[in-house]
Formats: sequence, C-alpha cells, structure tokens
Amino acid sequence: MKVDLAGKVVLVTGASRGIGKAIASAFGETGAAVVVNYRDNQARAEETAGEIEKQGGTAIAWRADVADGDQVQAMVEGISSRFDRLDILVNNAGIIRDLLLLQMEKQDWASVLETNLFGVYHCSRAVLKGMVMRRWGRIINLSSIASLHGGRGQSNYAASKGAINAFTRSLAAEVGPKGITVNAVAPGLIATDMSRGVLALSDNVVRERIALRRVGKPADVAPLAVFLASEAASYITGQIIQVDGGMS
Ligand code: NAP
Repeated sequence: MKVDLAGKVVLVTGASRGIGKAIASAFGETGAAVVVNYRDNQARAEETAGEIEKQGGTAIAWRADVADGDQVQAMVEGISSRFDRLDILVNNAGIIRDLLLLQMEKQDWASVLETNLFGVYHCSRAVLKGMVMRRWGRIINLSSIASLHGGRGQSNYAASKGAINAFTRSLAAEVGPKGITVNAVAPGLIATDMSRGVLALSDNVVRERIALRRVGKPADVAPLAVFLASEAASYITGQIIQVDGGMS
C-alpha cells in the first residue's frame, strides 16, 4: 500500500541507526519531511538523512538527547520554525543496560528509564500543543515484547516498555477527541546494535520461540509505523501491536 504523507513533517527519535533509521527511510518514501534525531552519532544520522534525500525525499539530522527536556523542547521549536509544523512523532530512541537486579545499580536503572520513558514524555509533551491546534497528529511509540513477557536481566528495560504501553493507552484516551492517535509498536528480536548480545545466543531462540524461524530486520518493523501514521489507520488508537515473527 502506497502511503502519501506529502506536506506532513515527521520526527523520528533515535534514527541514526537500527529500527529508527528504517522507519525514517520508510517515511522518506511517503513524501513527508523527515527529522532524523540522534544523540551521539552525527555521521550516521547525516548518512540516514542523506540517503533519504538521495531517494528524492526531504530530511535533516537533528541532535537532541531525548532524556533532556530542555534539549527536546529546543529541537521541537527548531523543527516547527523550520518546517512550520510537526505532525507525526515516532518515539523510537531507546537503550538497554541488561543486568540481574542484584547487580543493577541505581544509575543502570535510572538511565534506561530516563531515555526510554522520560524521553517519550518529553517528546510527546513537546509536540502535542501543535497537534492539538491542528486537530491532527500521530504518536507512535516503540515498545517491545519485553513489556508483555519480561526478560531475565531486563527488569529496567521491561519496566520502561511496560510503562510505555500504559502511557500509550492513557494518552490515546486523552487526545483522541483532538484528532490525535497514539499507538505502540512492540517488536520481537530485531537485528540491530542493541540486540547484538542476544543475537549471539539467538540460535535457540530462533528455533524454539520464533514461529517464522528468523530474526527480524529493521525493515520488518518500519511499514507498521508508516501505516499507523496514514489516513487508513485513522480509526486505530491506544493499541500495542506486536511485530515479532510470532515470537510470543
Ligand atoms: P539501536 O540500534 O541501539 O539504536 C538506538 C538509537 O537510539 C540510535 O539512533 C541512538 O542514537 C538513539 N538514542 C539512544 N539514546 C538516545 C537519547 N537519549 N536521545 C536521542 N537518541 C538516542 O536500537 P534499536 O534496536 O534500533 O531500537 C530502537 C527502538 O526499538 C528502541 O526503543 C528499542 O527499545 C526498541 N526495540 C528494539 C528491539 C530489537 O530487538 N532491536 C526489540 C524491541 C524493541 P546514537 O546513534 O546517536 O547513539
């Protein structure tokens, strides 16, 4: 299905690599202007934006740490003054600090919550005003199947993603009357830098737990994000949708 989002502006957080990069690229093909957010990796972010432009799209790399509310506010104001609007937010930026709870220091716990959960709060809050004014908006949050099933050594990460699910449902109820939908995409095991450690042990997981018998690619996740932003998805909100090859 060809999605036309010409005239819209989308912010994808954490789009320098991995799933965010695939989502940014997929939005690039819809005609939307794409903001490729990153925290550290300027070269990779500029590469992502450059690839979108090479395909005929419009894209720009934009640095901001989503865990920092002031940086997020400055980014959203910057995007709004450059493009005059911000219609679609994909809260994708995320980190892991996998440890058994007894080994998990407060900083390991806090850093995951600050990026994965506070980041979603900062970005959603910053974009909402404009969306409410325009009576149209899409917020798409990257959750995880860890939010539904947990994972050994992932109490911080699973807690952040479980909270994102609850946040998604609550915000959907809150802003639905304003014409804004809020949904979450919950990937299974997707081959990226984040999953490299798990992938080293993935043979068993693939054999025993993934119905489709393969690890996912970032490009397996991206089309759902684009669909959720499209007019065709305008009656879908408050949902947590799994993209996991049947892992769960
Ligand atoms: P990844 O390859 O590690 O990429 C993470 C991205 O997030 C990078 O672009 C990174 O930017 C950015 N980022 C990290 N902290 C940030 C911050 N504080 N502010 C702004 N950007 C930040 O991760 P991924 O595997 O693509 O995961 C993307 C999302 O999908 C995450 O929310 C993750 O939890 C979720 N997910 C992944 C899997 C999986 O198997 N991979 C499964 C389920 C859910 P820099 O390059 O600048 O560091």
